[in-house]
Amino acid sequence: MNLDSRDADLELTPAQMQTMGDAVLRRVIAHIATLGEQPVRGDVDAAELCRRMREPAPEQGAALESLLDGLFEKWIPRSFNTASPGYLAYIPGGGVFPAALADLIADGANRYTGVWIAAPALVQLEANALDWLRDWMRFPATTRGLFTTGGSMANFTAIICARERGLGAEIRRGTMYTSDQVHHSVLKSARLAGVMPDRVRAVPVDRGFRMGVDALEQAIARDRAAGLTPFLVVSSAGTTNTGAVDPLPQINALCKSAGLWHHVDGAYGAAFHIVPELRPLLAGLPGADSVTIDPHKGMFLPYGTGALLVADGDALRTAHAVTASYMPPSQDDAELYDPHQLGPDLSRGFPGLRVWLSVKLFGAARYRAAIAEKRALALGAAERIAALPHVIMDAPPQLSLFAFHLEWPGSTLTEQDAATRDLIERVTRRGKVFLTGCEAAGRFLARVCVLSFRTHRETIDACVEHVSEESRAVVAARRALARE
Ligand SMILES: *Cc1c(COP(=O)(O)O)cnc(C)c1O
Repeated sequence: MNLDSRDADLELTPAQMQTMGDAVLRRVIAHIATLGEQPVRGDVDAAELCRRMREPAPEQGAALESLLDGLFEKWIPRSFNTASPGYLAYIPGGGVFPAALADLIADGANRYTGVWIAAPALVQLEANALDWLRDWMRFPATTRGLFTTGGSMANFTAIICARERGLGAEIRRGTMYTSDQVHHSVLKSARLAGVMPDRVRAVPVDRGFRMGVDALEQAIARDRAAGLTPFLVVSSAGTTNTGAVDPLPQINALCKSAGLWHHVDGAYGAAFHIVPELRPLLAGLPGADSVTIDPHKGMFLPYGTGALLVADGDALRTAHAVTASYMPPSQDDAELYDPHQLGPDLSRGFPGLRVWLSVKLFGAARYRAAIAEKRALALGAAERIAALPHVIMDAPPQLSLFAFHLEWPGSTLTEQDAATRDLIERVTRRGKVFLTGCEAAGRFLARVCVLSFRTHRETIDACVEHVSEESRAVVAARRALARE
């Protein structure tokens, strides 16, 4: 093997780094500046494209510009435009620009933030960001938190904490409770945490899609009588299907009296608690044992940013604290924050910097204004859409999401489901707003979720106009079909 030290050198000169950085920044900014004109759903019928893209690792490096061409001209456009102002599908993304800068800083500096002693001041920035979340959720001073890759991992970690506290080694005896509207990540997390599907109870919901507290109480009593150990209720503060907020105060009370852990999955909705005027919508949230917050949803950060708060910080530490002889001493007093003692990761990125830089640059007041605007836009859209002919509003917005279906005299459930599916497809195909649907209460519902920081009044006007025109067209077509 010929060892030439120039071949072995992966460092770039300052001039090269500047040129490359400028090239990437130019592309990213041009992309963001034209998001509103790009189709809201790119062509994702791309299996053939993906097959053609397979290639062996290149022996020699390529020019950056040619790689950026592929990304920005061919591959990024073949996707759901989750960053678009018109993305009202699923739970919208967004991706504020300061977070991208934070990632560049974090990756460029590449400091070790898994362990307090390796970068104490940087870890403190992350601790500050978690404390801000704690204050906004009105969680107690004993709270400890953790940034995760998303809501799924936050839910998973909460289940682990509850399991450790409630069951110890007796995992098979434990039963947990959710509503039948719970996000599927909770069921996956339960399984990963060793709580198998036969130990997870789906409590029925009321007409507002909220967990029925009487049914919950009965389910707990039944399991107790059968010799099992109820240990956890996972409620939803904003379900993904219809945006329903479970009755958190009653669930808190029940969990306290029955000795169960109450985890709130607030991946969609907890961010609304940042706005004091909206806190009544999430009443009871501060009294839970833990809450999942997903900054990559309601705080508009890029994907890969979830968070968990646990009111009794010791429970988070008990579930994760470890030592090893080769490691520096950990900071395990309650005052300073040592991430690897509180979560599953050791080496990791620096997720806290994204949150910290974004909040520092914008300030909390602008965040509150943006979150409040999303709710106001959703209320306005729901009111206008509910007033359209053939629209039945099944789930008015509890936060910023609503769900509805199409119905006309003489139509069957099957016809209504098909028409509602047609509607979201036709609206989305027009390219301005992306809608999705769900099955709930035995029928197919169209959903509108307003949560992108880029969504403003113009997008809502387009949404109402396109739903209005397409729903008339869909119902007319179905009626013509029925007459044939
Ligand atoms: C999005 C979502 C999740 C999952 O969060 P990820 O960040 O996608 O892992 C869990 N629960 C609810 C209610 C959600 O909306």
